[in-house]
Amino acid sequence: MIDPVPRSRKRISPFRLHRPETIDAAVAARAALPNSAYMGGGIDLLNGMKAGTEWTDIVLLRDIASLRTITRSDSHIRIGSGVGLDALGRNDVLLDLLPDIAAAWAPIANVRIRHQGTVGGNLMARKAHYDILPVLMAAGATVVFATVDGPLELPAAWLSSSTKPAAFGALLTEVRIPVHARIPFHDRSHLPGFLVTVGHCGDGAWRAAVAGAHDLPRVASLDLPVGIDLPIHSTLARRVAEDWCSGLPIMCERAGISGTWRRRAVPAVLARLLAGIAVSARSRAA
Ligand SMILES: Cc1cc2nc3c(=O)[nH]c(=O)nc-3n(C[C@H](O)[C@H](O)[C@H](O)COP(=O)(O)OP(=O)(O)OC[C@H]3O[C@@H](n4cnc5c(N)ncnc54)[C@H](O)[C@@H]3O)c2cc1C
Repeated sequence: MIDPVPRSRKRISPFRLHRPETIDAAVAARAALPNSAYMGGGIDLLNGMKAGTEWTDIVLLRDIASLRTITRSDSHIRIGSGVGLDALGRNDVLLDLLPDIAAAWAPIANVRIRHQGTVGGNLMARKAHYDILPVLMAAGATVVFATVDGPLELPAAWLSSSTKPAAFGALLTEVRIPVHARIPFHDRSHLPGFLVTVGHCGDGAWRAAVAGAHDLPRVASLDLPVGIDLPIHSTLARRVAEDWCSGLPIMCERAGISGTWRRRAVPAVLARLLAGIAVSARSRAA
């Protein structure tokens, strides 16, 4: 008889499904169950299980209503971790207050993935080339976790450090983006090679982030001459982009694309963005 499961895939081992309705109940469930994982839309989690990862207990986050809202305060926009990817390019709060960011995220994946996947799953899958984290890092956003010891707010860039948030069972509850954050320069047209994004948190101190060129996205400040704002002359843009790149770790080979090509292409694309030559996410989405 032919086995319907391809050799590269495994049958998912049996697991217990838990459906907490509050953040506290989810954190308590995960803490009490040593071999458990949170599940948002389940795309990456189930893919991992088909590849052999075994969880005896899965804590589904879909029933926690407070994770699925986008709200604003005086200082920031709060996006719940259970918000679906499809909301990012269509939500009125985001479109009104952070249109650059809504436009940068609108083209993520395809309709099916956008419908199923969540912001929390995209971030906590911690994949090199996913779109949400580099934008958050360039925008100076923070991420908030619920833990058994209480809430924990950290810079989004912490997610690209080597610490594994899953190791301490933390539940990502929301991301907070400063209300005056801007991402006017953004180019994802070279994916799966890399994505480059440029923004600030409202203070005009420009940062650039790159995804897909390292094991996780990287962010660093742009060293612009005092008193000069973006866009800048193309000669200066080339120098600033090259300096920015030389401060990053060595770019890796990934998805069949060499690190050497990335090392040449990333500063070239960044320079075009800084000079205002390349097409930004906003104008491309329009
Ligand atoms: C064909 C295809 C194309 C894609 N294209 C793109 C693309 O262009 N850009 C892009 O960015 N992404 C892309 N993706 C990736 C997609 O965005 C992610 O698979 C999706 O966002 C994962 O979300 P999820 O809710 O399903 O995560 P899940 O599978 O539910 O979770 C992923 C991981 O995060 C953990 N987790 C989930 N939620 C939380 C939480 N709140 N707190 C703590 N841990 C949590 C889970 O335990 C698991 O380890 C693509 C995927 C596919 C299959």
